[in-house]
Formats: sequence, C-alpha cells, structure tokens
Amino acid sequence: MKLHFYGGARVVTGSNYLIEVGQTKLLVDCGLFQGPPEVNELNQLAFPYDPKTIDYIFVTHSHLDHCGRLGQLVKNGFKGQIFCTPPTKDLMAVALEDAVHLMSEEYKDKNLEPLYNQQDLQKMLSLIKTREYNQPVKLNENIEFTLRDAGHILGSSMIELQLTEDSKKVKIVFTGDLGNPPTPLLNPTYQITETDYLLIDSAYGDRNHESKKQRKELLKQAFLDAIKRKAVLMIPSFALERTQELLFELNNFVENKIIPQVPIFIDSPLAIKITEVYKKHQSYFNQKTRYIIASGDDIFAFPGLKFTSTSQESKKINKVPAPKVIIAGSGMSTGGRILFHEKEYLPNPNNLFLIVGFQVEGTLGRKILEGIPLVHIMGQDIKNRAERRAIGGYSAHADQQGILQFIKNIKGPIKKIFPVQGEKKPAEVLKNLLTNKLGIAAELPKYEQVVEL
Ligand SMILES: [Zn+2]
Repeated sequence: MKLHFYGGARVVTGSNYLIEVGQTKLLVDCGLFQGPPEVNELNQLAFPYDPKTIDYIFVTHSHLDHCGRLGQLVKNGFKGQIFCTPPTKDLMAVALEDAVHLMSEEYKDKNLEPLYNQQDLQKMLSLIKTREYNQPVKLNENIEFTLRDAGHILGSSMIELQLTEDSKKVKIVFTGDLGNPPTPLLNPTYQITETDYLLIDSAYGDRNHESKKQRKELLKQAFLDAIKRKAVLMIPSFALERTQELLFELNNFVENKIIPQVPIFIDSPLAIKITEVYKKHQSYFNQKTRYIIASGDDIFAFPGLKFTSTSQESKKINKVPAPKVIIAGSGMSTGGRILFHEKEYLPNPNNLFLIVGFQVEGTLGRKILEGIPLVHIMGQDIKNRAERRAIGGYSAHADQQGILQFIKNIKGPIKKIFPVQGEKKPAEVLKNLLTNKLGIAAELPKYEQVVEL
C-alpha cells in the first residue's frame, strides 16, 4: 500500500492525496492551490497521475482548496465514483458554479484556457454518490470507508479508510479541515478512537485562538455601538459558514431585543444561495439549533434582515439611511460587493469596519485592518478612517490545543502522524510537539513524497 502526497504538503491549499491498494487507486480531495501567483500556477500543471486510472475519490468538504480541481480531473478523463455527504454535494454545486464563472473571467483576462468549464462541473457532479456520517461502506475486498463529522463547515467529513492488501490491514484517517467546536450551528468534531496513520490539519499548529466566550459579546457590542452613533457597520464575510453563523447570532440578538432592529443586508448572491443549502440540510445542525428551529424559529429570517441578490437591489443599499449593517463578500475584501461599500463608507470615521475571519497578509482586508491611511480600491485611493475592530473567536479550524486534544483522545497506538494543510512553520511546530512531547512518530511530507503504509 502506498500513500502519495500531491498537495497540502507544507502548504495550506491544494489538498490531494493518492492511495494505491491492491489494483485500486483512490484519491482523497482534489483541491485548488490558492495564494500568491507562484502557488496559483500549480493548478495549470498536468496532474502527477493519470486521472483515467483513478477509481474512487473521497471529498472531505466543499471549500475550493479541497474540491476545486475535481472538474479539471473529469475534463482529463476521470470516470470513477466520488463520495461525500449530501450537504457537501449541494454546497459544491453552488460554490463551484460561482468559482467556474469567476475563473472563466480571470483566465480570459490572462489569455489562458480555464481549468474546466460548467459542462465539466455538471459531469463531475453526476459522478457523486452521497453517503451519511458513521455508515461503513465496503467498496471491494480491499477498501472500506466511513465518513465522520469533522465539525468544520456544513457536511464536512473526515475520511476513515480500512485498507486490506494480502493479509495486511491498515487504518488511515484524513481529517480534512478539523473543526473548532463549539460552533453556533454544527455538531462537535467526531472523536476518532484508533488509527494506524493520521493526516491532520495543521493550519493552526503553532498557535491558539482567542477565547470563544468573548466572541458573541464583542459582536453584540459592535452592533450596539454602531447603532448608537448611527454608523454604517461593514462586515466582510465568507459566504460559506461564517455568514450563516452571523445570521444565527443576529437572529438571536434581534428577536430577543438584545439589539434594536435596524436594516441588515446580506449583500452577496453566493452567500444567499449557500444559505438556501443550509436551510435544506438542517438535520446536520447541532441539537440546540435543531431545537430552536423545531420551536418554530426560522434562524435565517428576522425583522430588518434583507437579502440583496441583484446588483439593482445592492445599489439601493446606498440610499438607506444609517444606522445600517452590510454583510458582504469576499471575506478578505479581495473582490465582491464589499468593495463598493468600503469605497463608500471607509472615509467616514463614524463608521465601523468589523472583521470576523482571518485576513491573509497582502489582502485588502488585512491592509484596512492594519490601518494603512490610504487603501487602493477599484482604481481609487480611499481614506481608511472608519473605526476598525476584529473578532478572532469564529475560526473554523482547530487550534494547537484542539489538535493536540484530538490526538491525545486517540487511544490505540498510532504508527505515524502527518501534519498537512498548514504552512511549513505551524506544521513543523506541531510535528516537533508530537515527537518530543507525546512521543508519537510524525513526519512533514514533501510534495510528491511516497510513503509505504
Ligand atoms: Zn476548509
């Protein structure tokens, strides 16, 4: 049995692992490389294996760095089966359609052929077979798999594989992105109890998040302050999971009169479509949230909330007097409708700019947050004068403490752990902690490295 690392090795993105067992070849994830141009360009390289020879793919979740190249794989001849949860399939359909649309424009500008098109995407979606959590599925003599709730975003799963070759049995678990419980909507991460090999999310292997207790309080205070001084509150937000989490918290604030009713706009067509998928899959929410829904509360609707799908509706937001709240993509202000609002409202020191997600260095969101006096938005220099705040407690990734606790709770002996999907530094810090403190063999894989299981 062989394990090949074709992405997520010393980088956060491009999650892609190949296993050979008997005559079968399977992949876990087929994600986009995302980041600076030299990383982005990796997507244009031919796959380091022949897509026609792959039998099965397991998709951990619907973030692009885990599923964004599946269409490209189909375009290049993949004809096998793809397994994931029902919410992952529906979220992929929406998120990838949007991504293909953006990609076709971006690649046209660069005079390049897009990685794949809407037809390839539809073909890919038709190859998916959905499976529920915690139900072992035997594919052949050599392979049995089980999806486990990763608690990262709706439908996210760890892939647990039980592999047999000759008389040798090996268990290997891919965490995908590991969640950061408790979250407003999701169940906590499933606890794996035994495995021989573990590929674990190491994005936050070198640090811990801010306390989760404070996050709701900080969010409430930002709203109260903005409303009191009749400000425009701008919140750049990721369309998937973070926006729905915000809606859940705001639903509670408004309906329980913790904050006064003001206009709150979800100004993102993608976030609106994704919220529809969340409504369809409420059985995947945690018990508390399902109870709230069962009591008759629509958690994605409350007085003052408006979804603005069309650009016509979006433009009208401008005419609504403050106080008002605008939640729009993209999460790091690298594109999307938030740019129009930042251009309009950042120069006024009375307004409030609130960050609820991680901002990568070099992004506009990071520059605004750091208080650079003039920021470049859509060809103009804009005065960055609005008050800036950040709430760190909403991360969807386990931090160092969370990762170590997850590993400590695995009872049986572990042969080896591979920290993946993190930059080199956090992955290395985690590897050293595992080896030196917990006495577990750990290795930082390199791109294209092969490991005999
Ligand atoms: Zn993710």
